Amino acid sequence: MNNFDLQKEIAYRRKTKSIMVGKVGVGSAYPISIQSMTNTDTRNIEATVKQIKALTEVGCEIVRLAVPDQEAAEALKKIIPQSEIPVVADIHFDYRLALAAIESGVSKVRINPGNIGSEARVAEVVAAAKHHNVPIRIGVNGGSLEKEILQKFGGVTAKGIVESALTHIRMLEAHQFENTIIALKSSDIRLTYDAYQMLAKEGDYPFHIGLTEAGTVFRGTIKSSMAMGALLLNGYGDTMRISLTGDPLNEIKVAKEILKSLDLRDFGIKFISCPTCGRCQLNLEKIAEELEMRLEGVNKSITVAVMGCAVNGPGEAKEADIGIAGGKDSALLFKKGEIIGKYSEDQIVDVLYEEIMKL
Ligand code: SF4
Repeated sequence: MNNFDLQKEIAYRRKTKSIMVGKVGVGSAYPISIQSMTNTDTRNIEATVKQIKALTEVGCEIVRLAVPDQEAAEALKKIIPQSEIPVVADIHFDYRLALAAIESGVSKVRINPGNIGSEARVAEVVAAAKHHNVPIRIGVNGGSLEKEILQKFGGVTAKGIVESALTHIRMLEAHQFENTIIALKSSDIRLTYDAYQMLAKEGDYPFHIGLTEAGTVFRGTIKSSMAMGALLLNGYGDTMRISLTGDPLNEIKVAKEILKSLDLRDFGIKFISCPTCGRCQLNLEKIAEELEMRLEGVNKSITVAVMGCAVNGPGEAKEADIGIAGGKDSALLFKKGEIIGKYSEDQIVDVLYEEIMKL
């Protein structure tokens, strides 16, 4: 893990029990982990492994794979040894796939016990999960609530989502199984927030948070950030997945940025840049973008400020460790609010980069 401030994080978290997903701890004693889901055909081992590796490289810590049939469940046997991060099987309805996935060595199974049929089947899945020490993630989705619940609550409601989750939870508890993580999802921000808040009062299972069908990168990032922000600031969320249409690598970048913005995880450099105004006399956008690109992957716990002018620049960014304040075709370099040099516009990115690397 990165050098995050665990104490600080715990102070903002709802207390939960700890669940081990392979080597990754999930719960309030651990940092909020980031996960994603592959969008390759799981039966295509090569493509899936390639995507898992790419996700791992950008910071994914747990990866979920759809397991729609036995062939996919079998493929897991070849995929898992090639993955550096825990692999989770996503199962719908078919308990035999859950059993096969557990046998194949997954670190967690996402399945709702209420959807797999008889008590005997639930007992079988629970026995296998216990035997292999595999947690189960219950995932209630507002879009697929049980008919009776929809009727009882007159449509999709937070209360309905919570009742559905509790039904699944109690089914596992009836088999003395509490190695459980819960997700309550919908594409509605308020509904999602209300549901987690209600369920938090009912127990201490860790929460997997996310918004379903959030949308494409632009809209999905905004919607997810709002939902995750509300949940995380109130202490809810132990592992998260940002769902975005398209390349799952974007999901990791967005998740990291959300956690970094809330000071919940330390993923390296924090950027501040001013929006620019009539006082700005240099191409600040270009400087900020170039610098951000050059510093991608640089793992330093510092704040860098890129400000448009010297009038407000150093003052506005006094919390920053280092930064620049623009002048006429030039910029002042400052550290902790103190000006330490002046450089031309075309030198400034190089100088700033060098100074940052020295820190
Ligand atoms: Fe305007 Fe200067 Fe503030 Fe940037 S730092 S918004 S240029 S006043």
